[in-house]
Amino acid sequence: MRTTMIDYENLGNLNAPFFEEYKSSFSRTLESGWYILGENVKKFEIDYAQYCGTNYCIGLASGLDALHLAIRCFDFPSGTEIIVPSNTYIATILSIVQNGFKPVLVEPDIKTYNINPTKIEEKITPNTRAIMLVHLYGKCCDMEPILFVAKKYGLKVIEDCAQSHGSKYKGQISGSFGDFGAHSFYPTKNLGALGDAGAATTNDILLAEKLKALRNYGSKVRYVNEYVGYNSRLDEMQAGFLSIKLASLNAINEHKRKLAKLYLDNLNVEFIKPVVDKDYYDVYHIFNIRHAKRDQLKEYLLLHGIKTEIHYPIAPNKQKAMQGIITGNYPVSEEIHNTTLSLPISFCHTDEEIYRVIETLNKF
Ligand SMILES: *Cc1c(COP(=O)(O)O)cnc(C)c1O
Repeated sequence: MRTTMIDYENLGNLNAPFFEEYKSSFSRTLESGWYILGENVKKFEIDYAQYCGTNYCIGLASGLDALHLAIRCFDFPSGTEIIVPSNTYIATILSIVQNGFKPVLVEPDIKTYNINPTKIEEKITPNTRAIMLVHLYGKCCDMEPILFVAKKYGLKVIEDCAQSHGSKYKGQISGSFGDFGAHSFYPTKNLGALGDAGAATTNDILLAEKLKALRNYGSKVRYVNEYVGYNSRLDEMQAGFLSIKLASLNAINEHKRKLAKLYLDNLNVEFIKPVVDKDYYDVYHIFNIRHAKRDQLKEYLLLHGIKTEIHYPIAPNKQKAMQGIITGNYPVSEEIHNTTLSLPISFCHTDEEIYRVIETLNKF
């Protein structure tokens, strides 16, 4: 029997539909001789702000920088605590630590994997200044109760939208709820570039102007430095590619949703599947299932020619880098980290491939 391997993800194949447009964009930018903060970045910022339904978008060098600089904009006092989910990629927490602030972890809801809104209030102290949310795997957080708590305590809200491009909660797009949306365009994300790239979205003109200065050495006027700034500019090449892919983002998300539906409708009940709710438009950056014998399951699938990933294998509170920074126990987050498995679900996967994954899984 000959079976071809099903990749978890193949970035070359995934980008193949855009090759011709990318090549002409590359040539145009190359020949223009203008590589930093030019027309491509301006255009992408306008396009992406419009897509997210925000007044402003600021192109940045990465998703981590977007998170970092969003916090930096507020000039919080030392001793500041920022609420963050215990179940996230480490970057979210790093952005708080690298600003010199204290991450205060809140456990997720075991059904949605996102921050549990009912657990936030008990973690708020007089030092709390912000809530940093993560719309994990492409599902929006339960925004109404979160925004209610934020308003009650006067907290800023920063959304980590690295995995949620185009996802919606009650019809509203992620990245448009808080003071800032922080977006990563790392190549594997739904709106992925061909290198590192990121952006922040906001409705506040003062925040937008400050962030624009911070990404460029703290300077609004050339060689005049108003803030202790950074170099975190989205470059012209990536901006050109991103505008091209943005035109297909809805198609990419719809394709992933179609594949997700195959999994949701056909996988055996022994696999814990993502929840579906009419208030949420999920974009499935990741399609995860949970299973007590996760590691065995991963091996079994590989043996049958199916590659999978684990997002993520080690909970942030268990990471060596977080020793002495994160205290307390996070059993819900650890349970998710110990049992989660990410199945193939990219723009280049076909229905047939997904059916093969399902059939194989159901025989486990
Ligand atoms: C990818 C990711 C980031 C970091 O983005 P980079 O562009 O790699 O810096 C941050 N948060 C989450 C949840 C992510 O998935």
